Amino acid sequence: MVTVPLSVTNIHIKIILMIKAITGTKDILPAEISKWQYLENLLRNIFENFNYREIRTPVFEETALFARSIGEETDIVSKEMYTFKDRSETSITLRPENTAGVVRAFIEQSLGAQQPLNKLYYIGAMFRQERPQAGRLRQFHQFGAEALGSTSPLLDAEMIQIAYYILKNLGLRNLVVKINSLGIPEVRENYKNVLRDYLKDKKDKLSEDSRKRFDTNILRIFDSKIEVDQQIMKDAPLLIDYLDEQSKNDFDVVKSYLTKVDIPFEVDPALVRGLDYYTKTTFEIVSGSVGSQSALCGGGRYDLLVEELGGKPTPGVGFAAGMERILLACENEKSLQLPEDSIDVYLVRIENGLELDVAEIASKLRREDLQCDYDYLNRSVKAQMREANKYNAKFVVFVGGDEYKRGELSVKNLSNGDQQLIKFDDTAALKQLINN
Ligand code: AMP
Repeated sequence: MVTVPLSVTNIHIKIILMIKAITGTKDILPAEISKWQYLENLLRNIFENFNYREIRTPVFEETALFARSIGEETDIVSKEMYTFKDRSETSITLRPENTAGVVRAFIEQSLGAQQPLNKLYYIGAMFRQERPQAGRLRQFHQFGAEALGSTSPLLDAEMIQIAYYILKNLGLRNLVVKINSLGIPEVRENYKNVLRDYLKDKKDKLSEDSRKRFDTNILRIFDSKIEVDQQIMKDAPLLIDYLDEQSKNDFDVVKSYLTKVDIPFEVDPALVRGLDYYTKTTFEIVSGSVGSQSALCGGGRYDLLVEELGGKPTPGVGFAAGMERILLACENEKSLQLPEDSIDVYLVRIENGLELDVAEIASKLRREDLQCDYDYLNRSVKAQMREANKYNAKFVVFVGGDEYKRGELSVKNLSNGDQQLIKFDDTAALKQLINN
C-alpha cells in the first residue's frame, strides 16, 4: 500500500505581527496637532519678545555629558537614561533634558566669545525611562530657556516670568509659582552636614529610598511623598535659614521683581529639585489640574555648570517645561478654544473627464496662497460635497457644466449659501472673494 503524504506546500499561512509604538511614547495625530502648533507659536512669540534666540542641539550626546552635568546620583542618570553603545563602542545617551546639550554647544561653539550674554530657547523631544502614567512619558517634549553670562537675579525672575506668561496666555488658572534658594555650594555643603546631623538618629525610621538618599543625595529626601519621611522632614532645619548674604540679596531681588510684575509666588523651602547643578534660585510652577504629576515647569540658576563641563567660568540660569503636561492642564481646564481646522476652497468636479482641469485650477489657487483641495478618489458630486464639509471648506468651486464651457466657475460660499460666477482665469477675483 502506498500512502500519499498530505501536501500543504501550496497553502501559505502568513502571520503578520502588529508592531506597536514603544511603551511610553505617543503619536501626535493631525486631530490634535493644532494645539501643539498653537503652543509652539505662542511660546516662540513670548521668547522673542524677551529677545531669546532659538538653539537646536542633537537629540543624542555622549553619555558622559549627562553624567557629569546632571549628577551620577540623580534619578535621571542612575535609572532613567536611554543609554547604548553605537557601532564604534561610544556610549551614547538620548537626551533626558536639554540644559547639558545647550551648555555643551555654548562651550564648543564659543558662544560666550561672540557676546557676553546669550539668551537661548529650545523646543524638542526628551527621553527618560520612567514608569509611564498620565503626564509622564518616555518620550516627551519640553521647551525651555537658558541665559548664559550673567549673575543678575533679574534673569532668574525673567525665567519665571516667561514661563508664567506662557502658561497664563494658554488660559491656565490653577497655577502656583514656588520659589526657593539653594545658596552657593559652600553653604549647601555646610547645610547638608546640618541636615545629616538632624537625620542621624532618625535614619532608621526613614523609607528605604530616603535611607539611600541619606548617603547619596540627602536634599532629595525633601521630595519624598511618603508619610513617615514627610513627618520627619517637617521639623528639619531649612537651607533657606543658612543662606549667605549674596544669595539672600539675590533672592530678595527675585521676589521684588515678581511682586512688581504681579506674579504671585510662594516661597517653598523644601523645593530642592532633582538635579545636582543648581545654585541659588530654584523654581517650579505647579498646576492643580493635572493630578499627581503636577509640575508644569522647573528651573533655576547653575553658576558652576559651564566650568564643570570644561568651559570658562560662566554663570547661567534656565528652565524647562513639559509640553504634554501643559496641554493636559489646558484640556482639563478647557482653557484653549481653538478654531476648527478649515480650508479655503474645495473644488468639486461635476462631470467626468475634467480631472486635469481641476488639478490645474487647484495648482493656481495654491500658488495664490489659498488652502485648496479636491477629490482624488473618483467620487460622486454628493460625496465630494460631503468631503468639502468634512474639511470645513469656506468655499466650494464647481468645475464643469455649461458655465465651465463658457469659461466660468461657479463659486459657493458654504457659510451663507451665496453663489456667484467668476471667469475661469480670474484667480485674483476668486482670491478676493475668498479673503473678504
Ligand atoms: P525636569 O527636567 O525634570 O525639571 O522637568 C521639567 C518639566 O518637564 C517637568 O515639570 C514636566 O512638566 C516635564 N517632564 C519631566 N519628565 C517628564 C516625563 N517623563 N513625561 C512628561 N513630562 C515630563
